[in-house]
Amino acid sequence: MKRGQLSTWGDLRTIIEPFKIKMVEPIKFTTRGQREAILQRAHFNLFQIAAEDVIIDLLTDSGTAAMSSEQWAGMLRGDESYAGASSWYRFEKVIRDLTGMKHILPTHQGRASERILFELVGGEDKVIPNNNHFDTTRANIEHSGAEAVDLVIDEGLEASSRLPFKGNLDPSKLEALIKKVGAKRIPLCLVTVTNNSNGGQPVSLENLQQIKAICQRHRIPFWLDACRFAENAYLIKQREEGMGNLSAREIASKMFALADGAMISAKKDGLANIGGILMMQDDKLAEKANNLLILTEGFVTYGGLAGRDLEAMAQGFTEVLEEDYLRYRLRSVEYLGEHLLKAGVQIVEPPGGHAIYLDATSFCPHIPPDHFPAQAVVCGLYRHAGIRTVEIGSVMFGASSKAENTTKSPMELVRLAIPRRVYTQSHIDYVIEAVVKVHQQKEKLKGLRIVEQTSALRHFTAKFEEIA
Ligand SMILES: *Cc1c(COP(=O)(O)O)cnc(C)c1O
Repeated sequence: MKRGQLSTWGDLRTIIEPFKIKMVEPIKFTTRGQREAILQRAHFNLFQIAAEDVIIDLLTDSGTAAMSSEQWAGMLRGDESYAGASSWYRFEKVIRDLTGMKHILPTHQGRASERILFELVGGEDKVIPNNNHFDTTRANIEHSGAEAVDLVIDEGLEASSRLPFKGNLDPSKLEALIKKVGAKRIPLCLVTVTNNSNGGQPVSLENLQQIKAICQRHRIPFWLDACRFAENAYLIKQREEGMGNLSAREIASKMFALADGAMISAKKDGLANIGGILMMQDDKLAEKANNLLILTEGFVTYGGLAGRDLEAMAQGFTEVLEEDYLRYRLRSVEYLGEHLLKAGVQIVEPPGGHAIYLDATSFCPHIPPDHFPAQAVVCGLYRHAGIRTVEIGSVMFGASSKAENTTKSPMELVRLAIPRRVYTQSHIDYVIEAVVKVHQQKEKLKGLRIVEQTSALRHFTAKFEEIA
Protein backbone atom coordinates (compact mmCIF):
# COMPACT_ATOMS: atom_id res chain seq x y z
CA MET A 1 0.00 0.00 0.00
CA LYS A 2 2.03 2.95 -1.24
CA ARG A 3 1.57 6.52 -0.22
CA GLY A 4 3.67 9.63 -0.69
CA GLN A 5 4.53 10.48 2.91
CA LEU A 6 7.85 9.27 4.21
CA SER A 7 7.98 8.86 7.96
CA THR A 8 8.86 6.07 10.36
CA TRP A 9 10.21 3.88 7.58
CA GLY A 10 12.87 6.27 6.28
CA ASP A 11 13.09 5.77 2.51
CA LEU A 12 10.62 2.85 2.47
CA ARG A 13 7.15 3.90 1.43
CA THR A 14 5.15 0.69 1.79
CA ILE A 15 2.82 0.87 4.76
CA ILE A 16 2.65 -2.64 6.20
CA GLU A 17 0.27 -4.26 8.66
CA PRO A 18 1.76 -3.33 12.07
CA PHE A 19 1.25 -6.86 13.44
CA LYS A 20 2.06 -10.45 12.61
CA ILE A 21 -0.38 -13.34 12.70
CA LYS A 22 -0.09 -16.14 15.24
CA MET A 23 -3.51 -17.75 15.08
CA VAL A 24 -5.43 -18.35 11.87
CA GLU A 25 -9.02 -19.12 11.01
CA PRO A 26 -9.56 -20.97 7.71
CA ILE A 27 -11.85 -19.50 5.07
CA LYS A 28 -14.24 -21.94 3.39
CA PHE A 29 -14.56 -21.42 -0.34
CA THR A 30 -17.90 -21.83 -2.10
CA THR A 31 -18.76 -22.15 -5.77
CA ARG A 32 -20.95 -19.73 -7.64
CA GLY A 33 -23.69 -22.37 -7.89
CA GLN A 34 -23.64 -22.94 -4.13
CA ARG A 35 -23.85 -19.21 -3.50
CA GLU A 36 -26.81 -18.86 -5.85
CA ALA A 37 -28.72 -21.46 -3.81
CA ILE A 38 -27.67 -19.85 -0.52
CA LEU A 39 -28.84 -16.44 -1.73
CA GLN A 40 -32.24 -17.82 -2.74
CA ARG A 41 -32.68 -19.58 0.61
CA ALA A 42 -31.82 -16.33 2.44
CA HIS A 43 -34.44 -14.41 0.42
CA PHE A 44 -31.67 -12.11 -0.82
CA ASN A 45 -31.00 -10.82 2.70
CA LEU A 46 -27.35 -11.32 3.61
CA PHE A 47 -28.05 -11.00 7.34
CA GLN A 48 -29.73 -14.40 6.92
CA ILE A 49 -26.63 -16.17 5.57
CA ALA A 50 -24.33 -18.33 7.70
CA ALA A 51 -20.94 -16.63 8.17
CA GLU A 52 -19.33 -19.91 7.13
CA ASP A 53 -20.72 -19.41 3.66
CA VAL A 54 -18.99 -16.05 3.27
CA ILE A 55 -15.49 -15.76 1.78
CA ILE A 56 -14.70 -12.14 2.72
CA ASP A 57 -17.06 -10.69 5.31
CA LEU A 58 -17.40 -6.93 5.01
CA LEU A 59 -20.88 -6.84 6.53
CA THR A 60 -19.65 -4.73 9.41
CA ASP A 61 -16.59 -3.57 11.29
CA SER A 62 -18.59 -3.99 14.51
CA GLY A 63 -17.37 -6.60 16.97
CA THR A 64 -15.28 -8.23 14.25
CA ALA A 65 -11.82 -6.94 15.22
CA ALA A 66 -8.97 -9.37 15.78
CA MET A 67 -7.78 -9.00 19.36
CA SER A 68 -4.12 -8.57 20.22
CA SER A 69 -2.07 -10.94 22.37
CA GLU A 70 -2.28 -8.33 25.15
CA GLN A 71 -6.08 -8.32 24.91
CA TRP A 72 -6.16 -12.12 25.12
CA ALA A 73 -3.81 -11.96 28.11
CA GLY A 74 -6.27 -9.53 29.71
CA MET A 75 -9.11 -11.97 29.02
CA LEU A 76 -7.33 -14.55 31.18
CA ARG A 77 -6.60 -11.96 33.86
CA GLY A 78 -10.27 -10.89 33.97
CA ASP A 79 -11.58 -10.49 37.50
CA GLU A 80 -15.10 -11.92 37.60
CA SER A 81 -16.09 -10.50 40.99
CA TYR A 82 -19.63 -9.16 41.00
CA ALA A 83 -18.78 -5.75 42.45
CA GLY A 84 -15.61 -3.69 42.31
CA ALA A 85 -13.60 -6.12 40.16
CA SER A 86 -10.03 -5.06 39.39
CA SER A 87 -10.93 -5.32 35.67
CA TRP A 88 -13.57 -2.64 36.25
CA TYR A 89 -11.10 -0.26 37.89
CA ARG A 90 -8.63 -0.75 35.07
CA PHE A 91 -11.32 -0.11 32.46
CA GLU A 92 -12.68 2.94 34.28
CA LYS A 93 -9.20 4.50 34.55
CA VAL A 94 -8.44 4.00 30.85
CA ILE A 95 -11.73 5.60 29.82
CA ARG A 96 -11.50 8.45 32.34
CA ASP A 97 -7.90 9.28 31.30
CA LEU A 98 -9.06 9.37 27.68
CA THR A 99 -12.35 11.26 28.04
CA GLY A 100 -12.27 13.14 31.34
CA MET A 101 -15.88 12.05 31.97
CA LYS A 102 -17.08 11.99 35.55
CA HIS A 103 -19.56 9.12 35.24
CA ILE A 104 -18.65 6.04 33.22
CA LEU A 105 -21.26 3.30 32.82
CA PRO A 106 -20.38 0.01 31.12
CA THR A 107 -23.09 -1.50 28.89
CA HIS A 108 -23.23 -4.62 26.75
CA GLN A 109 -23.11 -2.61 23.52
CA GLY A 110 -23.77 0.83 22.04
CA ARG A 111 -27.51 0.47 21.63
CA ALA A 112 -27.92 -0.38 25.32
CA SER A 113 -26.35 3.01 26.06
CA GLU A 114 -28.79 4.58 23.61
CA ARG A 115 -31.77 2.82 25.11
CA ILE A 116 -30.94 3.99 28.63
CA LEU A 117 -30.18 7.55 27.54
CA PHE A 118 -33.30 8.05 25.43
CA GLU A 119 -35.56 6.46 27.98
CA LEU A 120 -34.35 9.28 30.25
CA VAL A 121 -34.18 12.26 27.89
CA GLY A 122 -36.39 11.21 24.94
CA GLY A 123 -40.16 10.92 24.76
CA GLU A 124 -43.09 12.52 22.93
CA ASP A 125 -42.49 16.04 21.66
CA LYS A 126 -38.69 15.85 22.02
CA VAL A 127 -36.38 16.47 19.07
CA ILE A 128 -32.82 15.08 18.86
CA PRO A 129 -30.49 16.57 16.24
CA ASN A 130 -27.38 14.82 14.93
CA ASN A 131 -25.15 15.10 11.87
CA ASN A 132 -26.64 11.73 10.85
CA HIS A 133 -28.25 9.31 13.25
CA PHE A 134 -27.00 5.76 13.06
CA ASP A 135 -29.82 3.24 12.50
CA THR A 136 -30.04 1.96 16.10
CA THR A 137 -29.76 5.50 17.47
CA ARG A 138 -32.65 6.65 15.31
CA ALA A 139 -34.66 3.55 16.22
CA ASN A 140 -34.13 4.09 19.96
CA ILE A 141 -35.05 7.76 19.73
CA GLU A 142 -38.20 7.01 17.75
CA HIS A 143 -39.05 4.13 20.07
CA SER A 144 -39.10 6.67 22.94
CA GLY A 145 -41.56 8.81 20.96
CA ALA A 146 -39.05 11.53 20.10
CA GLU A 147 -38.04 12.71 16.64
CA ALA A 148 -34.55 12.13 15.22
CA VAL A 149 -33.34 14.90 12.87
CA ASP A 150 -30.31 14.73 10.54
CA LEU A 151 -28.48 18.04 9.99
CA VAL A 152 -25.34 17.06 8.08
CA ILE A 153 -23.89 19.67 5.69
CA ASP A 154 -25.39 19.48 2.17
CA GLU A 155 -22.07 18.38 0.62
CA GLY A 156 -22.14 15.41 3.00
CA LEU A 157 -24.93 13.93 0.90
CA GLU A 158 -23.12 14.16 -2.44
CA ALA A 159 -21.01 11.10 -3.14
CA SER A 160 -18.39 12.83 -5.26
CA SER A 161 -17.89 16.11 -3.40
CA ARG A 162 -14.31 15.87 -2.12
CA LEU A 163 -14.27 17.78 1.15
CA PRO A 164 -12.08 16.80 4.09
CA PHE A 165 -14.89 16.85 6.66
CA LYS A 166 -18.13 15.74 5.04
CA GLY A 167 -19.41 14.46 8.38
CA ASN A 168 -19.82 17.99 9.76
CA LEU A 169 -23.12 19.08 11.26
CA ASP A 170 -24.35 22.26 9.55
CA PRO A 171 -24.37 25.03 12.22
CA SER A 172 -27.01 27.06 10.36
CA LYS A 173 -29.33 24.04 10.14
CA LEU A 174 -28.95 23.58 13.90
CA GLU A 175 -29.73 27.26 14.55
CA ALA A 176 -32.79 26.98 12.31
CA LEU A 177 -34.02 23.87 14.10
CA ILE A 178 -33.62 25.50 17.52
CA LYS A 179 -35.52 28.53 16.24
CA LYS A 180 -38.28 26.34 14.80
CA VAL A 181 -38.92 23.94 17.72
CA GLY A 182 -37.37 25.83 20.66
CA ALA A 183 -34.42 24.76 22.82
CA LYS A 184 -36.76 23.34 25.48
CA ARG A 185 -37.79 20.50 23.18
CA ILE A 186 -34.16 19.57 22.46
CA PRO A 187 -32.82 17.56 25.42
CA LEU A 188 -29.42 17.17 23.78
CA CYS A 189 -27.59 17.55 20.48
CA LEU A 190 -25.55 14.61 19.20
CA VAL A 191 -22.66 14.55 16.78
CA THR A 192 -21.58 11.16 15.43
CA VAL A 193 -17.81 10.75 14.93
CA THR A 194 -17.07 9.51 12.37
CA ASN A 195 -20.41 9.91 10.62
CA ASN A 196 -21.23 6.25 9.96
CA SER A 197 -24.44 6.80 7.98
CA ASN A 198 -22.96 9.19 5.42
CA GLY A 199 -19.89 7.16 4.54
CA GLY A 200 -17.74 7.16 7.68
CA GLN A 201 -16.90 10.79 6.99
CA PRO A 202 -15.02 12.64 9.75
CA VAL A 203 -16.10 15.73 11.66
CA SER A 204 -13.55 18.51 12.16
CA LEU A 205 -12.54 19.76 15.58
CA GLU A 206 -13.55 23.23 14.42
CA ASN A 207 -17.07 21.99 13.65
CA LEU A 208 -17.35 20.28 17.04
CA GLN A 209 -16.32 23.57 18.67
CA GLN A 210 -18.91 25.52 16.64
CA ILE A 211 -21.71 23.12 17.52
CA LYS A 212 -20.69 23.12 21.16
CA ALA A 213 -20.82 26.95 21.19
CA ILE A 214 -24.33 26.97 19.71
CA CYS A 215 -25.48 24.36 22.22
CA GLN A 216 -23.95 26.30 25.10
CA ARG A 217 -25.70 29.49 24.03
CA HIS A 218 -29.05 27.68 24.11
CA ARG A 219 -28.22 25.56 27.19
CA ILE A 220 -28.53 22.34 25.21
CA PRO A 221 -26.19 19.54 26.35
CA PHE A 222 -23.69 18.55 23.66
CA TRP A 223 -23.12 14.79 23.21
CA LEU A 224 -20.91 12.60 21.07
CA ASP A 225 -21.79 9.29 19.49
CA ALA A 226 -18.10 8.44 19.63
CA CYS A 227 -17.96 4.88 18.26
CA ARG A 228 -15.08 5.74 15.91
CA PHE A 229 -13.43 8.54 17.87
CA ALA A 230 -9.87 7.30 17.15
CA GLU A 231 -10.36 7.16 13.38
CA ASN A 232 -11.97 10.60 13.53
CA ALA A 233 -9.04 11.93 15.57
CA TYR A 234 -6.51 10.57 13.10
CA LEU A 235 -8.40 12.05 10.14
CA ILE A 236 -8.36 15.40 11.96
CA LYS A 237 -4.60 15.00 12.36
CA GLN A 238 -4.22 14.29 8.64
CA ARG A 239 -6.72 16.78 7.25
CA GLU A 240 -7.31 19.71 9.60
CA GLU A 241 -5.13 22.78 9.52
CA GLY A 242 -2.77 23.05 12.50
CA MET A 243 -3.52 19.56 13.86
CA GLY A 244 -0.67 17.61 12.24
CA ASN A 245 1.65 17.96 15.21
CA LEU A 246 -0.79 16.68 17.82
CA SER A 247 -1.05 12.99 18.61
CA ALA A 248 -4.28 11.13 17.90
CA ARG A 249 -4.69 10.79 21.68
CA GLU A 250 -4.37 14.56 22.23
CA ILE A 251 -6.93 15.23 19.50
CA ALA A 252 -9.32 12.62 20.92
CA SER A 253 -9.02 14.24 24.34
CA LYS A 254 -9.87 17.63 22.82
CA MET A 255 -12.97 16.09 21.22
CA PHE A 256 -14.18 14.56 24.48
CA ALA A 257 -13.38 17.72 26.46
CA LEU A 258 -16.11 19.51 24.48
CA ALA A 259 -18.80 16.97 25.31
CA ASP A 260 -21.27 16.83 28.19
CA GLY A 261 -21.68 13.14 27.54
CA ALA A 262 -20.90 10.39 25.08
CA MET A 263 -22.00 6.96 23.97
CA ILE A 264 -19.53 4.48 22.55
CA SER A 265 -19.88 1.03 21.09
CA ALA A 266 -16.65 -0.76 22.07
CA LYS A 267 -17.22 -3.05 19.09
CA LYS A 268 -15.66 -0.44 16.81
CA ASP A 269 -12.67 1.57 18.06
CA GLY A 270 -12.72 -0.38 21.33
CA LEU A 271 -11.15 -3.23 19.30
CA ALA A 272 -13.35 -5.57 21.32
CA ASN A 273 -15.95 -8.13 20.27
CA ILE A 274 -18.59 -6.84 22.65
CA GLY A 275 -19.15 -3.89 24.99
CA GLY A 276 -20.37 -0.33 25.19
CA ILE A 277 -20.08 2.79 27.31
CA LEU A 278 -22.45 5.52 28.42
CA MET A 279 -20.74 8.46 30.06
CA MET A 280 -21.62 11.91 31.23
CA GLN A 281 -20.67 14.84 33.44
CA ASP A 282 -24.15 15.49 34.90
CA ASP A 283 -24.62 13.95 38.39
CA LYS A 284 -28.44 13.84 38.34
CA LEU A 285 -28.64 12.22 34.92
CA ALA A 286 -25.96 9.73 35.96
CA GLU A 287 -27.95 8.71 39.02
CA LYS A 288 -31.02 7.94 36.91
CA ALA A 289 -28.91 6.17 34.28
CA ASN A 290 -27.25 4.01 36.94
CA ASN A 291 -30.67 2.95 38.19
CA LEU A 292 -31.74 1.87 34.71
CA LEU A 293 -28.37 0.17 34.19
CA ILE A 294 -28.91 -1.97 37.29
CA LEU A 295 -32.47 -2.69 36.25
CA THR A 296 -31.68 -3.99 32.77
CA GLU A 297 -27.93 -4.44 32.20
CA GLY A 298 -26.21 -5.28 35.47
CA PHE A 299 -24.49 -3.72 38.46
CA VAL A 300 -22.65 -0.45 37.82
CA THR A 301 -19.19 -2.02 37.84
CA TYR A 302 -19.91 -4.56 35.10
CA GLY A 303 -23.03 -3.47 33.19
CA GLY A 304 -23.88 -6.77 31.51
CA LEU A 305 -20.28 -7.66 30.70
CA ALA A 306 -17.85 -10.21 32.05
CA GLY A 307 -14.71 -8.94 33.79
CA ARG A 308 -12.71 -10.34 30.89
CA ASP A 309 -14.69 -8.18 28.45
CA LEU A 310 -13.78 -5.08 30.48
CA GLU A 311 -10.11 -6.11 30.24
CA ALA A 312 -10.34 -6.53 26.47
CA MET A 313 -11.98 -3.10 26.21
CA ALA A 314 -9.43 -1.40 28.48
CA GLN A 315 -6.56 -2.74 26.36
CA GLY A 316 -8.42 -2.09 23.08
CA PHE A 317 -9.15 1.55 23.88
CA THR A 318 -5.42 1.94 24.62
CA GLU A 319 -4.12 0.21 21.47
CA VAL A 320 -6.52 1.93 19.10
CA LEU A 321 -4.73 5.26 19.56
CA GLU A 322 -1.32 3.89 18.55
CA GLU A 323 -0.30 5.90 15.51
CA ASP A 324 1.24 2.98 13.60
CA TYR A 325 -2.08 1.21 13.89
CA LEU A 326 -4.15 4.23 12.83
CA ARG A 327 -1.86 5.03 9.90
CA TYR A 328 -2.16 1.44 8.61
CA ARG A 329 -5.88 1.31 9.30
CA LEU A 330 -6.79 4.46 7.41
CA ARG A 331 -4.37 3.70 4.61
CA SER A 332 -5.86 0.25 3.99
CA VAL A 333 -9.33 1.76 3.63
CA GLU A 334 -7.97 4.51 1.37
CA TYR A 335 -6.15 1.91 -0.76
CA LEU A 336 -9.40 0.06 -1.48
CA GLY A 337 -11.13 3.34 -2.34
CA GLU A 338 -8.34 4.58 -4.60
CA HIS A 339 -8.32 1.42 -6.69
CA LEU A 340 -12.09 1.38 -7.12
CA LEU A 341 -12.11 5.02 -8.20
CA LYS A 342 -9.30 4.33 -10.65
CA ALA A 343 -11.45 1.58 -12.20
CA GLY A 344 -14.37 3.99 -12.59
CA VAL A 345 -16.47 2.83 -9.63
CA GLN A 346 -18.00 5.83 -7.86
CA ILE A 347 -17.51 5.71 -4.11
CA VAL A 348 -18.27 8.23 -1.42
CA GLU A 349 -15.26 10.50 -1.65
CA PRO A 350 -12.87 10.94 -0.04
CA PRO A 351 -12.54 7.55 1.72
CA GLY A 352 -13.60 7.82 5.36
CA GLY A 353 -12.50 5.87 8.40
CA HIS A 354 -13.81 2.33 8.55
CA ALA A 355 -15.36 1.50 5.22
CA ILE A 356 -15.71 2.24 1.55
CA TYR A 357 -19.21 3.06 0.36
CA LEU A 358 -20.16 2.37 -3.24
CA ASP A 359 -22.61 4.81 -4.77
CA ALA A 360 -25.30 2.41 -6.02
CA THR A 361 -27.20 5.16 -7.85
CA SER A 362 -24.34 5.54 -10.28
CA PHE A 363 -23.39 1.83 -10.10
CA CYS A 364 -26.81 0.76 -11.45
CA PRO A 365 -28.61 3.69 -13.06
CA HIS A 366 -31.12 1.19 -14.51
CA ILE A 367 -32.55 0.36 -11.06
CA PRO A 368 -34.83 3.00 -9.45
CA PRO A 369 -34.57 3.69 -5.67
CA ASP A 370 -37.78 1.80 -4.89
CA HIS A 371 -36.20 -1.32 -6.39
CA PHE A 372 -33.27 -0.96 -4.00
CA PRO A 373 -30.21 -0.57 -6.27
CA ALA A 374 -27.77 -0.92 -3.36
CA GLN A 375 -29.32 -4.24 -2.32
CA ALA A 376 -28.93 -5.39 -5.94
CA VAL A 377 -25.18 -4.65 -5.75
CA VAL A 378 -24.95 -6.42 -2.38
CA CYS A 379 -26.48 -9.55 -3.94
CA GLY A 380 -24.24 -9.23 -7.01
CA LEU A 381 -21.05 -9.14 -4.93
CA TYR A 382 -22.07 -12.19 -2.95
CA ARG A 383 -23.06 -14.15 -6.03
CA HIS A 384 -19.88 -13.30 -7.90
CA ALA A 385 -17.26 -13.53 -5.19
CA GLY A 386 -18.77 -14.59 -1.87
CA ILE A 387 -18.22 -11.10 -0.45
CA ARG A 388 -20.77 -9.99 2.14
CA THR A 389 -21.53 -6.26 2.27
CA VAL A 390 -24.51 -4.26 3.47
CA GLU A 391 -27.07 -1.90 1.98
CA ILE A 392 -27.17 1.58 3.51
CA GLY A 393 -30.06 3.09 1.64
CA SER A 394 -33.79 2.79 1.23
CA VAL A 395 -33.97 -0.69 2.73
CA MET A 396 -32.24 0.47 5.91
CA PHE A 397 -33.73 3.94 6.21
CA GLY A 398 -36.85 3.84 4.05
CA ALA A 399 -39.94 2.79 5.95
CA SER A 400 -38.43 2.76 9.43
CA SER A 401 -38.17 6.52 9.56
CA LYS A 402 -40.72 8.81 11.12
CA ALA A 403 -39.37 11.78 9.21
CA GLU A 404 -41.43 13.18 6.34
CA ASN A 405 -39.25 11.48 3.74
CA THR A 406 -40.48 7.97 4.41
CA THR A 407 -39.87 5.99 1.27
CA LYS A 408 -36.48 7.10 0.08
CA SER A 409 -33.05 7.45 1.64
CA PRO A 410 -30.98 10.49 0.60
CA MET A 411 -28.26 8.15 -0.73
CA GLU A 412 -28.23 4.57 -1.99
CA LEU A 413 -24.96 3.10 -0.71
CA VAL A 414 -23.27 -0.27 -0.39
CA ARG A 415 -20.94 -0.39 2.58
CA LEU A 416 -17.74 -2.42 2.46
CA ALA A 417 -16.80 -2.27 6.13
CA ILE A 418 -13.28 -3.36 6.93
CA PRO A 419 -12.93 -5.40 10.14
CA ARG A 420 -9.98 -4.16 12.17
CA ARG A 421 -6.71 -6.15 11.84
CA VAL A 422 -8.49 -9.12 10.18
CA TYR A 423 -7.76 -9.07 6.45
CA THR A 424 -4.46 -8.66 4.62
CA GLN A 425 -3.73 -6.72 1.47
CA SER A 426 -4.35 -9.72 -0.81
CA HIS A 427 -7.85 -10.06 0.62
CA ILE A 428 -8.41 -6.41 -0.23
CA ASP A 429 -6.98 -6.95 -3.73
CA TYR A 430 -9.51 -9.78 -4.22
CA VAL A 431 -12.33 -7.43 -3.19
CA ILE A 432 -11.13 -4.77 -5.64
CA GLU A 433 -11.05 -7.29 -8.48
CA ALA A 434 -14.53 -8.58 -7.63
CA VAL A 435 -16.18 -5.14 -7.36
CA VAL A 436 -14.65 -4.10 -10.68
CA LYS A 437 -15.88 -7.33 -12.38
CA VAL A 438 -19.43 -6.88 -11.07
CA HIS A 439 -19.33 -3.24 -12.17
CA GLN A 440 -18.30 -4.26 -15.69
CA GLN A 441 -21.43 -6.45 -15.90
CA LYS A 442 -23.73 -4.14 -13.98
CA GLU A 443 -26.62 -4.44 -16.49
CA LYS A 444 -27.07 -8.00 -15.20
CA LEU A 445 -27.94 -6.76 -11.69
CA LYS A 446 -31.65 -6.96 -10.92
CA GLY A 447 -33.78 -4.74 -8.69
CA LEU A 448 -35.64 -6.24 -5.74
CA ARG A 449 -38.95 -5.92 -3.99
CA ILE A 450 -39.69 -6.56 -0.32
CA VAL A 451 -42.14 -9.39 0.29
CA GLU A 452 -41.98 -9.44 4.10
CA GLN A 453 -40.76 -6.90 6.68
CA THR A 454 -40.89 -5.75 10.29
CA SER A 455 -41.77 -2.25 11.52
CA ALA A 456 -38.39 -1.26 13.03
CA LEU A 457 -34.90 -2.05 11.68
CA ARG A 458 -36.43 -4.03 8.83
CA HIS A 459 -33.11 -4.53 7.03
CA PHE A 460 -32.11 -7.32 9.46
CA THR A 461 -35.01 -9.60 8.58
CA ALA A 462 -36.76 -8.37 5.43
CA LYS A 463 -37.34 -10.94 2.69
CA PHE A 464 -36.86 -9.91 -0.95
CA GLU A 465 -37.49 -11.24 -4.39
CA GLU A 466 -35.71 -10.26 -7.57
CA ILE A 467 -37.63 -8.33 -10.20
CA ALA A 468 -37.23 -10.01 -13.57
C1 LIG B 1 -22.46 0.65 16.01
C2 LIG B 1 -22.98 1.98 16.27
C3 LIG B 1 -23.95 2.18 17.26
C4 LIG B 1 -24.59 1.06 18.03
O1 LIG B 1 -23.67 0.25 18.68
P1 LIG B 1 -23.91 -1.34 18.87
O2 LIG B 1 -22.73 -1.77 19.68
O3 LIG B 1 -23.96 -1.95 17.53
O4 LIG B 1 -25.19 -1.52 19.61
C5 LIG B 1 -24.36 3.47 17.47
N1 LIG B 1 -23.86 4.50 16.75
C6 LIG B 1 -22.92 4.35 15.81
C7 LIG B 1 -22.39 5.52 15.06
C8 LIG B 1 -22.45 3.08 15.52
O5 LIG B 1 -21.53 2.92 14.57
